[in-house]
Amino acid sequence: MQFDLAVLPGDGIGPEVANEGIKVLQAIGERFDHSFNLHYGLVGGVAIDQLGTALPPDTLEMCRRCDAVLLAAVGGPRWDDPQAKVRPEDGLLTLRKGLGLFANLRPVKVFPTLIDSTNLKPDVIQGVDFIFVRELTGGLYFARPKRQWQTSRGRRATDSMTYSEQEIERIVRVGFELARGRRKKLTSVDKANVLESSRLWRQVAMEVAEYYPDVELEHMLVDACAMRLIQNPTYFDVIVTENMFGDILTDEASMLAGSMGMLPSASLAGVPQEGGNIFGMYEPIHGSAPRRAGLDMANPIATILSIAMMLRYSFGLIKEAQTIDSAVDEVLSQGYRTYDIMGEGKTRVGTKQMGDLIAAKVGG
Ligand code: NAD
Repeated sequence: MQFDLAVLPGDGIGPEVANEGIKVLQAIGERFDHSFNLHYGLVGGVAIDQLGTALPPDTLEMCRRCDAVLLAAVGGPRWDDPQAKVRPEDGLLTLRKGLGLFANLRPVKVFPTLIDSTNLKPDVIQGVDFIFVRELTGGLYFARPKRQWQTSRGRRATDSMTYSEQEIERIVRVGFELARGRRKKLTSVDKANVLESSRLWRQVAMEVAEYYPDVELEHMLVDACAMRLIQNPTYFDVIVTENMFGDILTDEASMLAGSMGMLPSASLAGVPQEGGNIFGMYEPIHGSAPRRAGLDMANPIATILSIAMMLRYSFGLIKEAQTIDSAVDEVLSQGYRTYDIMGEGKTRVGTKQMGDLIAAKVGG
């Protein structure tokens, strides 16, 4: 089969981890006889430097013409000035909105071989396997008004937490659909004791639940969820939540897996189905880790696992996706580690070597 893939390497370690993801994708192509046509584009700081905008219109158009998008990471201290008119992250937000990617899926799975590489006790994280569904195009990051202004008593600023019932319904449905294919338990996270938008969220979640009698729905306050993730993470199966809560909780959850460098994500324009062909953008959950850039240190596994999600949800290639998952498992079992997941008696490798090892396993 033939697929068109937009590749947006971005900034910092972005280009390094993107290369390794593509290396593994090419190995899949060779083994299973698929061809992936790659279309490279600019986004983030590199686009600001070259074209003065974080998301050039050409990049957005190119993504729309492709079957899926691989985005590595954007941002860095060079573009961090709070006074700056344009920021690398604007590119990301515009891309998500412009491509209608409202559902962000972030699986959190603890690899048995990495159980000793995290800061948590092995008996707490053993068997952790859940998935976050984060709303991605609404809430505090997008709603208006959003501004800063001068008053006679100093500066003020506002952001808005706004959701429509349609926005809530479609994301909660994604949660229910995923739960249906798993352990049939959905935790909807909100702050309904203080936020009006959360009270609407909870009402709509209960309405949607009527269509999914086979799935158990529970509501959890975001602060309680933050605590439970550390105290008893195996409790969760599927978690659905709004944009900012999801942003924060997923970073917290990444620590269960040992490193940000281990967690993939998919941002989808519809309800996901394994083996389906829904349009999506696939990215590691980490940022551009500027201090590690150019040093061949970054862990490429989050990007490689994002490629596996792409095969599963956008290209309908389940067997190929499983091949990548198993290759990662095997390479870790053989003791190879990047610096972030390094443990006693293991073999330390750089970004490229980790990519080579996984690509070689994929090649069979
Ligand atoms: P970060 O995710 O870049 O780094 C957090 C920590 O994790 C650092 O210690 C880093 O070295 C480590 N880390 C991250 N990815 C790793 C990898 N693949 N392998 C090994 N270690 C890794 O977050 P940050 O430091 O808060 O932000 C750096 C820049 O990235 C900022 O400009 C931020 O705005 C941007 N950012 C971008 C995205 C994105 O592109 N989606 C997401 C988060 C942050």
